[in-house]
Amino acid sequence: MAEASRVSGISTSLIRRMFEIVERAKREGKDVINLSIGEPDFRTDDAIIEKACEAMREGFTHYTSNFGIPELRSAIAERYGVDERNVMVTAGASEALLNASLAFIEEGSSVVIPSPNFLSYFSYAKMCKAKVVQIKTHENGFVLNPDSLNEVMDRNVSMIFVNYPNNPTGVVADRRTLKAIAEIARDYEAIVVSDEIYDQIYYDKKPFSLAGYENVVVVNGFSKSLAMTGWRVGFVIAEEDLLDSILKVHQVNGVCAPSFAQKAIAEVLTDGTAEKITKRMVEEFRRRRDFVYSKLKGIFEVVKPEGAFYVFPKVNGDCIEFAEKLLLEKGVALTPGIAFGEGNESYVRISYATSMEKLKVAMERIEEFVHGGKTA
Ligand code: PMP
Repeated sequence: MAEASRVSGISTSLIRRMFEIVERAKREGKDVINLSIGEPDFRTDDAIIEKACEAMREGFTHYTSNFGIPELRSAIAERYGVDERNVMVTAGASEALLNASLAFIEEGSSVVIPSPNFLSYFSYAKMCKAKVVQIKTHENGFVLNPDSLNEVMDRNVSMIFVNYPNNPTGVVADRRTLKAIAEIARDYEAIVVSDEIYDQIYYDKKPFSLAGYENVVVVNGFSKSLAMTGWRVGFVIAEEDLLDSILKVHQVNGVCAPSFAQKAIAEVLTDGTAEKITKRMVEEFRRRRDFVYSKLKGIFEVVKPEGAFYVFPKVNGDCIEFAEKLLLEKGVALTPGIAFGEGNESYVRISYATSMEKLKVAMERIEEFVHGGKTA
C-alpha cells in the first residue's frame, strides 16, 4: 500500500528515536538521565484530579459543544481579555495547530517557520503540501527579526508560525517584535499562528500575547501550565470568521476536548487554584533554570532561557554525534538540534523538566564528557 504523498515527506520524529534509544539503554541496565523530555515532570495536582472525578460522576462524560463548555470558554476569555466568542477549546494544542494548518495553508503556498522551532510545524506544512521557508534566528538571540520576515514575505505566504516562550531555546519575544510580525502578516493577508503554550512558564519578563490581533490564531493549552499533557485540553483564540474556518476541521478532527477535563480546568481557573499550581511549578523550574544555565555557560555558548523548560547550547561538532556519544559514554540523553530546523547542526536541546538531583549529576557528566575525565 502506497503512503499518501502528504505524509511521505515527514520523518518519524527524531525525538522519538532518541526516546527509543534511551529505553533500550535502560533495559540494558544503564543508569540514564533523560534530558529530552517535553513535558513537566510534575503530577497533575490532586485538586484537579478530584474535580475531574466529581465532574465524571456529575455526568461530564458526553460530547460538549465543539467550542467547549461555557465556563471554560469564559475563564479563558477573561484571562486574555477577549470575548468568549473568540475562544474555541480543542483536544490539546496539537489539535489546534493541525486545525489551523488545514484551514489556512493553501497547497503550494509558503509557510514561514523561524529556526530553531518546534518540529511539528514542519510536519503541518508538509501535510498541507506547502513550501517551507525557514528564517534562521541564531544571530538575533533566537527571536524572529521582523526585518528578516519582511524580506521573505510575498502574497504566496499563507502562514507564519511563531512560538514564544520558545521550544527549544526558552527565549521570549518582546511586544514590539510580536506586534510588528502581526502587522507584516496582515499586510500580506497571511495568518500568524502564535503558539503560546509556554506563556505561563516564564522567569523574567511576562510574555506578550497576540490574543485579539487581526489575522492571528493564538494556540495555547493546559498541557504545560497545569502539567496535564495526558488530559488533552488546548484552545484557540481568534476572530470569529477565522474560528468558523477552524471549526470546519475541528468538527471532524478533535470534535471536543474531554468534558470532565474541561470542567475541572474551568473550576481551578475560576477559583484561583490554577494560578497557585502554576506558580509552585514555575518556582521549581526557575531554580533549575538558574542552576543549569550557570553550569552550561561555563562549558558552552548558550543563550539564557527566559521561559519554558529548555535550554539550547551550542556544542562543538555534530549534534547527533554529540548526543549519541554522550548517551553511550555518560548515560545522559538530550535532543540533537537538527530536530528543530536548519542551522541547528551544532546545537542540542536540554530539558530541565527533571529533578534537581538528576540535573546535578547530569551537569557533572556533561562537564566530564566535554572536558575529559572519568566515565559514569
Ligand atoms: N507547541 C509546543 C511548542 C510544544 O512544545 C508542545 C508540546 N511539546 C505542543 C505545542 C503540544 O501541546 P499539547 O500537549 O497541548 O498538544
